[in-house]
Amino acid sequence: MKWKVGDVTISKLEEIVYPEFSDVIPAATPELVQQVQWLFPHFVTPEGLLSLSIHSLIIDTPSAKLVVDTCIGNDRDRNPFEVMHMLSTSYLEDMKGMGYQPEGIDFVLCTHLHLDHVGWNTRLEGGTWVPTFPNAAYLMGKQDLEFWGKASPGDTEEFMQIQAKVFEDSLQPVLDAGLAKPVEGPAPVCEGVRLISTPGHTPGHVSVIVESQGESAMITGDFIHHPIQFHDPGLVSPFDVDNDAAVATRRKVFAEYADTPTLIIGTHFAGPTAGKLVRDGDGYRLDV
Ligand SMILES: [Zn+2]
Repeated sequence: MKWKVGDVTISKLEEIVYPEFSDVIPAATPELVQQVQWLFPHFVTPEGLLSLSIHSLIIDTPSAKLVVDTCIGNDRDRNPFEVMHMLSTSYLEDMKGMGYQPEGIDFVLCTHLHLDHVGWNTRLEGGTWVPTFPNAAYLMGKQDLEFWGKASPGDTEEFMQIQAKVFEDSLQPVLDAGLAKPVEGPAPVCEGVRLISTPGHTPGHVSVIVESQGESAMITGDFIHHPIQFHDPGLVSPFDVDNDAAVATRRKVFAEYADTPTLIIGTHFAGPTAGKLVRDGDGYRLDV
């Protein structure tokens, strides 16, 4: 799947799709989903469960190639988070099949540092984790680096224990190689690409704006997980570090981008993944 934004091409590189992942927004019950008919058939199952896609978005500009979020990755101990544990997918081969070599990537943009966004930052080579994109600058939120850098294997919270492993195998090797570039949004990346600050899901969360020839797109990251949050920006996720800040960010960003020509590309949206945001009653809807 590909989108044109002026002179820029944005391509979706899918790692894995979870057709039924309603845990991401527990209040989005099948009963509620049934009231939001535009979610069918792309974003929910016929039974009203939430579908979630894990994919990277590759931005190809006339001057640079960028990968936004690097999914879960192969060979990773993510116990006890079974659904993301020890994956073995063809992600890297698929990327090459699309015409992108890891050595040719100039920037890796991590919207935040959760396990499903940084996995392919590294790959296993001879028992050692090495950066997958050896010539890239890896941009990541300074506050996220500080926050998740404190995760420890002995933490009382299970999710922090998992994030400690994530830091060790997917972030520390990038830091050790000197490829990490901490940023505080809003920040320019390269011609036609910039970051905006969208905190709440994590403290240093950023989203990506692409602009070319008068056209524009936004890659959301996880300030929104699922299109049902357009219908009701107040629906929260247990994976948010700060629910209130995440709701405030959604309300602010949606109000700014609704009824504009900017293409909204969801980092976890299944199926068509992108569309225009339009006002719809008290909330919004994604026109795909
Ligand atoms: Zn995510």
